[in-house]
Amino acid sequence: MKKAELAPVALLLSFAVLMNAVAHRFPKLWTAPAMAPSRPVLVIDPGHGGADGGAVAPDGTEESGLNLAIALRVEALCALLGLESAMTRRTEELDYPPEAGTIREKKVADSHARVELVNGLPGALLLSIHQNTYPGAGPRGLQVLYGPGEGSEALAEAVERSVSALPEISLRAAAPVPESVYLMKNVSCPAVLVECGFLSNPQDLERLKSDAYQKQLALCFAAAYMGYAAGSRQ
Ligand SMILES: [Zn+2]
Repeated sequence: MKKAELAPVALLLSFAVLMNAVAHRFPKLWTAPAMAPSRPVLVIDPGHGGADGGAVAPDGTEESGLNLAIALRVEALCALLGLESAMTRRTEELDYPPEAGTIREKKVADSHARVELVNGLPGALLLSIHQNTYPGAGPRGLQVLYGPGEGSEALAEAVERSVSALPEISLRAAAPVPESVYLMKNVSCPAVLVECGFLSNPQDLERLKSDAYQKQLALCFAAAYMGYAAGSRQ
């Protein structure tokens, strides 16, 4: 990581550590009153996996692997900062019900299982991690898409604010998630889907494959989660 790239990361990390310190120093501020929503838990969803590799880069890099690598970094940061989190998958292999024979049936069964997991977790905030692609190499940048549930747009704004601190970030305007994304349309909690970059763009692809950029993204996502969760308690 270049020296110039460290400043925003250090700033975000300081913010994250400070928020955690405040939570421990003033536990009463963070105690939910009776009937208040449950303690937030960040559900990290690495898109695709198993029989579904997602988008594929010109060099053969599969979206599912990048999604998982970034998601595991977010999970590790949450553990480090004492934040509640859960994963919809932790490996590239997925178990499917025996009746799911075709790839389409497997994808449907997997989507249903992820919805069930998210909707079964009180206090869930969903962060779905994906990569974009385009027929041409030109388009690049990160885009946050938000679900229809209450709080989703605010969560998207928190993620946008956080990632805008990254050096040389190209941000595409946040937008509602397309109707076709089953998971996002069927969860009841605040939910965002982040298209971290374009696998079809050489500049984005190189960054997305680098440890340094994956760490920066993960830190931004964890910081956004903390900021949103703190704000929703007030
Ligand atoms: Zn995807």
